[in-house]
Amino acid sequence: MHIKKQRLLTPGPTPLYPPALRAMMASDIHHRTDDFRGVYKSVLADLKKVMGTSNDVILFAASGTGAMEASVTNLFSPGDKVIVCSAGKFGERWAEITKAYSLDVTVLQSEYGDVVTPERIRQALAATPGVKGVFVQASETSTGAAHDVRAIGRSVTGTEAIFVVDAITGLGTMPLDIDDWGLDVVIGGSQKAFMVPPGVAFLSVSPKAWKRAETATLPHFYFDLKKEKKSGDKGESSWTPSTAVILALGEALCYVKELGMSNLVENAQLLARATRAAVGQLGLELFAPNSPSASVTAVKAPRDIDSSVIVKEFRNRFGAIIANGQGSMKGQIFRIAHLGYFDFADLFAIIAELEIILHAHGHPVKFGSGVAAVEHVYAEAAVAQPVSVM
Ligand SMILES: *Cc1c(COP(=O)(O)O)cnc(C)c1O
Repeated sequence: MHIKKQRLLTPGPTPLYPPALRAMMASDIHHRTDDFRGVYKSVLADLKKVMGTSNDVILFAASGTGAMEASVTNLFSPGDKVIVCSAGKFGERWAEITKAYSLDVTVLQSEYGDVVTPERIRQALAATPGVKGVFVQASETSTGAAHDVRAIGRSVTGTEAIFVVDAITGLGTMPLDIDDWGLDVVIGGSQKAFMVPPGVAFLSVSPKAWKRAETATLPHFYFDLKKEKKSGDKGESSWTPSTAVILALGEALCYVKELGMSNLVENAQLLARATRAAVGQLGLELFAPNSPSASVTAVKAPRDIDSSVIVKEFRNRFGAIIANGQGSMKGQIFRIAHLGYFDFADLFAIIAELEIILHAHGHPVKFGSGVAAVEHVYAEAAVAQPVSVM
């Protein structure tokens, strides 16, 4: 028997920020009190701050999908023409939600690992007059690909369409200038780069989207943007909030503010770059080589090894919980996450473990070659602060 520490290394839920975890112990608090109102208000204000937007931010007790659904039911009417970009399992979720609510959906589909190009969206908008909404993933977590939301925003701004961005793994991993790029709705979730457990979803809402909410007719009750905005202004949620997760989020947001959102993004991007270099050294291929995201790196398993075996080996040998492919990608790819509370020490371990696992399954590996690639990226980026000697 050896000691094996369990480590959660998936792209959601992600590793927890320890002070946030401790903050949850104060959840023996009632939500209709001034103490909690203070926390709730600062969480809303801090989310706005780290998202870098002047738009309102609305928060729900839900996983990310709840906020996705809220964007549909509050801003659209049955039969509205919308464009859904679908390049993976989460794009498929947009198609499912919009169809479930009887929107008239045009799905722009790309192969898993690819993205929907801004040009295709521009053409679809030009070919379909009266489009009321465009839906996309900033980062498609299932494939490790990132959409060019800035360029897409340029095509959508100036039309009557609301641009709805699922940035659940985009926030904190890529620059997103919500106000300047015309991102009308930007959705986030607590269990991704925000380093706390699942249970809270949030979204920013632009003036253009609020205007649409005035005329939209789809029914909604629990996820009511206008009602929630009114409650939020008073430091309350309309229904019982996820108190424990709000307390955790408050703590994590202080950390993100201290770090700086741009440094959180840079951290993910650096780890992603190092991961790409490492797996390249180990002779493995990326699943989304043309537009890799910094939230998660999807790696193709070697031809003769099922990725489920690699995932299982990570868990059995090292207690490391990493992500398999989803749907038809299961068994084909494994995913190494970088979003939120991940650091180089995590990555050194993950890559060393990967070398050992590949070697054990007959894949030719020069021990240390992947780790060396990470070390080079670390050294070149001069990540360490200079140590002051007294
Ligand atoms: C995690 C995730 C979601 C939300 O999933 P939930 O399980 O509802 O939190 C949506 N989109 C993307 C891109 C995600 O990574």
